[in-house]
Amino acid sequence: MNYKDLADLIFPNAKEISYYEEKYPERNLPEGAIVSRFAPSPTGFVHIGGLYQALVAREVTKRTGGVFFLRVEDTDQKREVENGVTGIVNSLKDFDILPDEGMVTETEEKGNYGPYKQSLRKEIYEAYAKYLIEQGKAYPCFCTSEEVEEIRQKQEAAKIRPGYYGIWAKCRNLSVEEAAEKIKNGEKYIIRFKSPGREDRKIKHHDIIKGNVDFPENDQDIVIIKADGLPTYHFAHAVDDHLMRTTHVIRSDEWLSSVPLHLQLFQELGFKTPKYAHISPIMKNDNGNKRKLSKRKDPEAAVSYYKEQGIPVNAVKEYLLNIANSTFENWRRANPDKDMDEFDFQLNKMSVSGALFDMVKLLDVSKTVISKMTAEELYENVLIWAKEFDKELEELLEDKEYSLKVFGIERGNKKPRKDISKWSDVKDSIIYMYDNKFLNNEVYYNYAKVSDKQEITKILNEYIEKYFDINDDKETWFNKIKDLAEKFGYAREVKEFKADPDNYLGHVGDISTVLRVALTGRQNTPDMYEIIQVIGKNSVIERLEKAMK
Ligand code: GLU
Repeated sequence: MNYKDLADLIFPNAKEISYYEEKYPERNLPEGAIVSRFAPSPTGFVHIGGLYQALVAREVTKRTGGVFFLRVEDTDQKREVENGVTGIVNSLKDFDILPDEGMVTETEEKGNYGPYKQSLRKEIYEAYAKYLIEQGKAYPCFCTSEEVEEIRQKQEAAKIRPGYYGIWAKCRNLSVEEAAEKIKNGEKYIIRFKSPGREDRKIKHHDIIKGNVDFPENDQDIVIIKADGLPTYHFAHAVDDHLMRTTHVIRSDEWLSSVPLHLQLFQELGFKTPKYAHISPIMKNDNGNKRKLSKRKDPEAAVSYYKEQGIPVNAVKEYLLNIANSTFENWRRANPDKDMDEFDFQLNKMSVSGALFDMVKLLDVSKTVISKMTAEELYENVLIWAKEFDKELEELLEDKEYSLKVFGIERGNKKPRKDISKWSDVKDSIIYMYDNKFLNNEVYYNYAKVSDKQEITKILNEYIEKYFDINDDKETWFNKIKDLAEKFGYAREVKEFKADPDNYLGHVGDISTVLRVALTGRQNTPDMYEIIQVIGKNSVIERLEKAMK
């Protein structure tokens, strides 16, 4: 009996690997094209760090005319949740990070290199596991989990490196006859890789992000096919990224220490090794301590958070590019109006330690992104969000024509307003513009400097009776406010007041604040003249009357 017989005994129906090698040929792509992928497990939670990896892979492949695909790694069936694939597909869709190939719904996929879901690739892994067994590079292991645990405890007690390797790898030296005998007797087994490595030898590896790294060789006989017949991540990664003709494995740096094992697997399988780019995690400053963004502690770790808050997709993407390449910020400053897609993203310029995630900065980016939208774009975006998350806002937006005027205030000019950073801010920033809300609800008026009620009533009354004309142009309107100020003993100009404060009760700003607060209930609003033009004559009068009551 030889290795081939043992392999046939274990996987009698597996195909020759040549079948798969022909079925999934080298891709016909332009010179330098990068093929990469996003390969999440469908655990029901999409982490912002995952989205970040996907964005990076999408960017670099797009730039080279390559291929970006979505592979679902569902071999750990304990961790899986229902509709986990849909969650991933939809998150990518929401952020417009669209794969060229791979899963497109829970069960459907596109592309010629599938299946793109690992649980459907069982026979492929079997073929390659069989191939390794045939060459004596993998073997069945009959150790129970108790036995493996016992080995670990012995190692721990003796203070030696844990694992299934060298003399500890009990089943590695079983003869094919012994192994076949056990199988025929119905003993349970898994398949292990027979590592050719030696711990005392070093390998050199060049990682696109981390640079040159040295590691001891791998000498662990890792499991490649588990008791449930599915592969481990390590084995599946090698087989899949080879057959899917991945040129660049872009993944989280938690896998960096597995590189020696992965290189060995590629080599023993006779595959060309891909390039690796290990992305550092997104970090958070937690009271002065830098730590990973955590699924448990930080709501912003979930991709769904951004949708719920209504932070526009482009803002999140732009921010992620910002932390991915430190050169982005300067590029953006020099090219404020260019599409972010034009930025020349460089994988090798990513930060070696983790980039810091700063919500304040993200919201700032978001304000700028939103300030550049037209009223119509803003309206459409806010409406979509409101339909899902805020019924009251949706109702406000029913009157589209009016809402467009509201959104049009200080928009589309050189210095557009920047008061909105997310859709969940919008209601509060516009609600007073709607008469049915403003006139019917109680308003708390805080007039700042001018506080005497009678004085305020006099000012407002005088304004309605003698100064207010909806048809005034902006200059005339403001001159009238100055006239009104003067009449009540306030300086027409702030300068005049500052030069001689004892001579005045205040200045024109104090009077316009009285009007502003009476009209809107707020001390800070966008341009009051524009507000007046949008709400219209009747509303101005009704609002001032309400304030006087
Ligand atoms: N399923 C692995 C993970 O989610 C994929 C790593 C990879 O991209 O190869 O960590």
